[in-house]
Amino acid sequence: MTYTPPRFVTGLTCFICGTTYPYGNIFTCPECGIDGILDVQYDYDSIGKRITPNSLALRGLNHWRYEELLPISSDSVIPHLHIGWTPVYDIPRLAKAVGVQKLFLKDEGRNPTSSFKDRASSIGVLKAAEFGFETIACASTGNAASSLAGLSAAVGLKSYIFVPERAPEPKVTQLLIFGATVLKVQGTYENAFDLCREGCEKFGWYNRNSGTNPFLVEGKKTAGLEIAEQCAAAMPDWVVVSVGDGCTIGGIGKGLQEMKMLGLIDRVPRLLGVQAEGARPIVDAFVSGQDLVPTDTNTIADSIAVGTPRNWRRALWQIEQTHGEMIAVSDEQILEAMRITARLGGVFGEPAGVTGMAGLQLAVERKIIRSHETALVIVTGNGLKDIHSAKQAAGTAISIAPTLDALAKALDTRSKTGA
Ligand SMILES: *Cc1c(COP(=O)(O)O)cnc(C)c1O
Ligand SMILES: [Zn+2]
Repeated sequence: MTYTPPRFVTGLTCFICGTTYPYGNIFTCPECGIDGILDVQYDYDSIGKRITPNSLALRGLNHWRYEELLPISSDSVIPHLHIGWTPVYDIPRLAKAVGVQKLFLKDEGRNPTSSFKDRASSIGVLKAAEFGFETIACASTGNAASSLAGLSAAVGLKSYIFVPERAPEPKVTQLLIFGATVLKVQGTYENAFDLCREGCEKFGWYNRNSGTNPFLVEGKKTAGLEIAEQCAAAMPDWVVVSVGDGCTIGGIGKGLQEMKMLGLIDRVPRLLGVQAEGARPIVDAFVSGQDLVPTDTNTIADSIAVGTPRNWRRALWQIEQTHGEMIAVSDEQILEAMRITARLGGVFGEPAGVTGMAGLQLAVERKIIRSHETALVIVTGNGLKDIHSAKQAAGTAISIAPTLDALAKALDTRSKTGA
């Protein structure tokens, strides 16, 4: 079947040299190479006539409600899974513990495969179909892979996922249950990444790999569009997000900016980007003002353990646009954030999922964020994805004999030790 091009997309502009290319199946600027990530441009004048508070009020509560602002063809068959419009919770107890006026959590663990990545994969599978691919591939053991496997199953695409040999069993199982072909590459993640790219070229698969696919960021953008609508009555001073490749924060920033451009909000919140101490190349580039220097990684927040981020320029640009900040947190602070997010907020995030919360706490301690200010933290992934780390944060159960006596003794000990 042939697809009509997305109606409101006007072109793809290189983030480095500014050249605009016509819409099509390209990833990066031919002149600038791998760094020349393309940014999707839209006809905002026409979109502004269609996306209004009144028209939005009539639309479905999922991320397809912004169809004019997405690079998708009107012929695309939208996956049936519920993507986006994740809840925003106002949690006074958590605000008080952290020391801000108001604290909101947006729970991305509520997406179909339990992470933010579903926003991007849902666009990726539509692009694959539109450009005539029957198979889509990626290299990852993390949320990008499980999300791609789930969304591919939903739309009937074949998926090939390349994982390094040492990929944890639970994550490999999540891929297999969705029917993905999982290839365990005898080597490192880099070996898996390279083999996937070569496989895509040789066998004609669509590549969902990197931060370099310009259409995936547009999917991530919808979280920013949603925040604008969900918080219109009380826009937070800060939006806080964990950062790996930089696509998530870049997309959210773009979405918020677009909503301001369309007149749906009058102010864009400041962005706080948070990395783990053990994987902080973008924080270092933010501080130094120099080009990014790749690093080794060592953190429990595996979903943001990225030593060579692809989309750091966009992340930094988007943060600077809002006079935002960046900060790095330790694994200890991430585990503490996992506890308080769950115990005071009732939301269970994976380590990278609560890294934003850890960053907010540290930013308040350092007076980057003040006690009279308000913040929205995006919890990017569900805690059940990484039980091993959660166990480090959670403590242990009390083992007792099945008698009231034993119960009373255990409760007594507990109240004395506070354990
Ligand atoms: C991928 C991911 C991120 C970071 O997104 P980037 O685009 O790599 O910056 C944060 N949290 C979770 C749970 C993720 O899976
Ligand atoms: Zn270029």
